[in-house]
Amino acid sequence: METRKKKKRLQTSSKRLWNKLAMERANHKCERCGKTTNLNVHHIIGKGRCRVLRWDLANALVLCSSCHTFGRVSAHSTNYFGQKMFAEWLDKYLDKNRADYLQTREKQSMRVTIQFLEEENERLKALEQS
Ligand SMILES: [Zn+2]
Repeated sequence: METRKKKKRLQTSSKRLWNKLAMERANHKCERCGKTTNLNVHHIIGKGRCRVLRWDLANALVLCSSCHTFGRVSAHSTNYFGQKMFAEWLDKYLDKNRADYLQTREKQSMRVTIQFLEEENERLKALEQS
């Protein structure tokens, strides 16, 4: 029970830092269209698909709600061609090193231990300070 609480606290803290740092890096603008309102931080590789990339800034992309979910061409578009067009944009947007890193990391099936959560949280805190 105590461990669960601690995990929860670390996850909440990391989520806040991850959001804040991604927004700062993107200068509070949608990275696809430049809009400055209704911004979300998108997980390039979904949280469900890879838990170790959940608080990794390489996996963060700031998008307005239209580019994230509601637009025809958006990350979570239900329209096949819309999703494909978004993926094509993303392919061009991400530099090769970052795309390679995400692909490699996605294949690693690491367990999200309390130690892992602590390390991720410390890493984000250090980035916030720098
Ligand atoms: Zn946008």
